[in-house]
Amino acid sequence: MSSIELKNLVKKYGDGFPAVNDVSLDIADGEFMILVGPSGCGKSTLLRMIVGLEDITSGDLLIGDKRVNDLAPRDRHLAMVFQNYALYPHLTVFDNIAFPLRLSKGKHTEEEIKAKVHDAAGMLELEEHLDRKPANLSGGQRQRVAMGRAIVRDADAFLFDEPLSNLDAKLRGQMRTEIARMQRRLGVTTVYVTHDQTEAMTLGDRVAVLKKGILQQCASPRELYDQPVNLFVAGFIGSPPMNFLPARVEGSTLKLPFADVPVTGELAQRVSGLEVVIAGLRPEYIKDATLGDQPQGAATFSAVVDQTEWLGNEQYAYIPFETDPSVHAQLEELERDLDGEGMRTQMIVNLDARSRVLEGDDT
Ligand code: ATP
Repeated sequence: MSSIELKNLVKKYGDGFPAVNDVSLDIADGEFMILVGPSGCGKSTLLRMIVGLEDITSGDLLIGDKRVNDLAPRDRHLAMVFQNYALYPHLTVFDNIAFPLRLSKGKHTEEEIKAKVHDAAGMLELEEHLDRKPANLSGGQRQRVAMGRAIVRDADAFLFDEPLSNLDAKLRGQMRTEIARMQRRLGVTTVYVTHDQTEAMTLGDRVAVLKKGILQQCASPRELYDQPVNLFVAGFIGSPPMNFLPARVEGSTLKLPFADVPVTGELAQRVSGLEVVIAGLRPEYIKDATLGDQPQGAATFSAVVDQTEWLGNEQYAYIPFETDPSVHAQLEELERDLDGEGMRTQMIVNLDARSRVLEGDDT
C-alpha cells in the first residue's frame, strides 16, 4: 500500500485553459479518495496522470515517498479499473483475472496464479463463472472481473474511473456496497472518479471537488455537506440542492425574500458587517409548520406549494416565487395531495449553524 501525493499538478493540452490547474492533494495510505465534479472538470485527466497515461505538464507526483513523474505506468504498481471494464472477450473469466499475473512472465507459478485467482473470485462471488467468457456475464459480473484483475496484482493503490456508470440504478447501488466492502477489507489506497454525488458521499473517506481543473474543496462527506467553502460546492453536494436566496442583513435579522429570520450565535458572527449576502439553506431547514413547535430562531411564512416530490421516506415541496428563486422545502407530513391550485400552507424557515452565508462566485 502507498500514500499518493499530488503537488501543484498541472496538465495543459495545447495552449488552452489547463485541464488540471495547480492541484495539490495528499492521499493517505489506505484512504478512499473520491474525485468528483461536473463533466470536463478534469477528474479523469487527473486520474490518468496518477496512473501514468497522461504526461504531467508541471508539478510533482509522489507514490510512497518516491517521485514518479517520469516512471512508466507498469512501474508505478497501480491497478486501474476502467468504465468499460477493458476485458478480453476471447478469454475466460479465469484468464482475464490471471492476465496481469501472466504478463509478468516467470514471476508467478501456475499454482500461485490459480490460488490468487480463486481468492479474488471468492471475494467477488465469481467462482461459479470462472469458465465463462465476458459476453456471457451481466454488467455487474463484468465489473467484478475487472476488479478481480486489479485485486490479484497486489497493487499499491486502486484507481477507478467511473466504474459503475454503465450499470442500472439498482446494480449501481449493489456494486457501490461491494466496492466499499472490498476496499475496507483490503485496506488499499483508492482513488475513485465519479460525477455521481451519491457515490462520492457514500464511498469516500474524503471527497475532492473539482471545477474547471481547480480543486475547490477536499473534505469528509459530512464536512462538505455542512461546511461547503463556496457556492459551487454548496450547490453540487446535496439532493435536492441547497437553496440560494438573496438576503439583506439588518442588525440581527436576515431578510430573506419571503421572511425575516433572526440570526443568532455563530451565524450572527458570520453575517456581522455584511449587507447583502446569499443565504444557503438546505431544504430541510424549510419545513411545513403543521407539526411541532416553532424552534427558536425560526420564522414562519405563508407559501403556495406548486409541486411535491415524494421519495418514499421523505417528501419535498417546490415553492415558486414570482420574482425570486423557487425554493425546495421538506414536508413533514407525507402523501399530501395537491389540487390544481397548489397547496397553501404555513412554512417555517430555520437558520442554524449549518445554514451558510455565501458570497458570489460564478456558479
Ligand atoms: P467527464 O466526466 O466528461 O469524463 P472529466 O471531468 O473527466 O469529464 P476530463 O476528461 O479530465 O474531464 O477533461 C478535462 C478537460 O480537458 C476537458 O475540457 C476536455 O475537453 C479536455 N481534454 C481531455 N482530454 C484531452 C485531450 N486528449 N486533448 C485535448 N483536450 C483534452
